[in-house]
Amino acid sequence: MTELDRLLEGNQRYVSADTPRPKDAPPRRRLALLTCMDTRIDPLAVLGLGLGEAHVLRNAGGRVTGDVLRSLVVSVHVLGVRTIVVMQHTQCGLARTTDEELRRRTGADIDFYPIGDHIKALQDDIDRLVSSGPLHFVHATAGLLLDIETGAVRLVAKWPGGH
Ligand SMILES: [Zn+2]
Repeated sequence: MTELDRLLEGNQRYVSADTPRPKDAPPRRRLALLTCMDTRIDPLAVLGLGLGEAHVLRNAGGRVTGDVLRSLVVSVHVLGVRTIVVMQHTQCGLARTTDEELRRRTGADIDFYPIGDHIKALQDDIDRLVSSGPLHFVHATAGLLLDIETGAVRLVAKWPGGH
């Protein structure tokens, strides 16, 4: 049985099961969550969210890239999102590496958005969201750091400031 066979079989089980399927596309919590593609993260479960409540965007590192901004413009302007959360995590493969090292290992001459320091990276990403003109309808953004071992998140950066 190939991997594709297993996937199609998994879909048959999904269709047969009586799994609730949300009817509406706009996220009910008016929330978008950006996080890393790491297999150890279950983004909805980590934050107590359910299907249909949030947009979930994932990439290597959970970084605010050009394509993340493209998706968030749709989230905010078309689908009503007003809160954006960026969640990076401990033991991330993008941490403690550099563009130079990744370019050498992969042969790809692109920007990988490596993470030298999570606090700085999350603050930079929040700043990038806040300063992005097309996202001016956003009411709040936050940068969280997930401890991959305990599952606990820590608030590292937020906008607006205060409590
Ligand atoms: Zn990661």
